Amino acid sequence: MVPEAILTILSTLTNAGEQAYLVGGCVRDFMLGRRINDWDITTSAKPERVQALFEKTVPTGIAHGTVTVIYDQAKAEVTTFRADGEYKDHRHPEQVQFVGNLTEDLSRRDFTINAMAMCAGGSITDLFGGREDLAKKTIRCVGKAEARFTEDALRMFRAYRFSAQLGFIIDDSITEAVAYCKPLAKELSAERIRDELEKILISDRPEMLHTLAEQGLLERFGIEKSNPIISLSTLPAERLVRWSGAFVCYPQLSKNVLRFDKYSQRLAAQTAELWNIPYSRQGCKHLIAEYGADVAACYAKGKGHFIDYEAILASGECVELSQLAVSGSDIPFSGPLVGKTLSEMLNYVLEHPEENKKDLLLARFLEQ
Ligand code: ATP
Ligand code: MG
Repeated sequence: MVPEAILTILSTLTNAGEQAYLVGGCVRDFMLGRRINDWDITTSAKPERVQALFEKTVPTGIAHGTVTVIYDQAKAEVTTFRADGEYKDHRHPEQVQFVGNLTEDLSRRDFTINAMAMCAGGSITDLFGGREDLAKKTIRCVGKAEARFTEDALRMFRAYRFSAQLGFIIDDSITEAVAYCKPLAKELSAERIRDELEKILISDRPEMLHTLAEQGLLERFGIEKSNPIISLSTLPAERLVRWSGAFVCYPQLSKNVLRFDKYSQRLAAQTAELWNIPYSRQGCKHLIAEYGADVAACYAKGKGHFIDYEAILASGECVELSQLAVSGSDIPFSGPLVGKTLSEMLNYVLEHPEENKKDLLLARFLEQ
């Protein structure tokens, strides 16, 4: 069902004499009966008109013709019909010319299943056989795959991403074009690739990552062939757990080439390094102490022992310096030896939880 508020946004535009359609992913997911994340609307109205017609708007990407309209708790990204290419007018690369109509707008889209529009009444505009490809569960480009990948090489990654998310097959025309166009992947920004890889990894078919490796799409990271040494789909579908699994299969990916934020990078890479350690309760306590609770949690999840990890934390047993009965101020000397002594005490307490007592520890470690 399309929410009432979204229908109102559409009718506000059409009542003002503009054309307006739902478009892209939301139409595809609507037809598949899948949960819809974002409502995208394509319209003949220029951004200033859209801003004037609605009370609450956010200029999300005015240069590309996109205004976010907020109405009655619902939100839609409303984009003016545009022709292909953000840089059509080379003299003014930041300014898109809104010369398009619905047909042109649909032609610039990547795959047939992503290139359908739906009006408020529910009728579908399908110029490229999207409906048929939905029925055949097939990912196929709008137009010639090779030309479309040459325009934007990210579409190669997007093809495998949608295949992983939807469980669709990739049309042979795409596989053939990828074999030819794969060197273009080198020109893409690492962030754009990372975002697509991440969607593959958290999908129901994370093993698609190996298909990308096989097809040569990861060559820019130094990955020449697939290396499925762990079963990614058996890991919980959590972002950093799956990334660390990916790093185990392809250590080359973890060398910061994907430009993660520092926290994610550290956590997934350290977890990957721990992967070969068999899980034990005692071992997990040491990992919490040494690497921090977040890395240990990620490791425990990957190993299928998260419940045990949570039980360790709930037990109140000392696993971190902050829980140690002794603190730096209890130690009668200063300098680097303080930290060393505290960490020796922590290591001892990890093995002897009942001895986490100030007097016992001070006696044991200081009076020798
Ligand atoms: P999701 O549910 O993952 O958001 P989506 O289909 O909405 O899937 P988006 O990346 O949000 O995917 O893009 C919205 C729409 O914009 C697509 O359905 C497609 O029509 C078009 N699109 C996005 N990226 C490209 C691209 N690189 N080339 C051509 N068309 C694209
Ligand atoms: Mg979307």
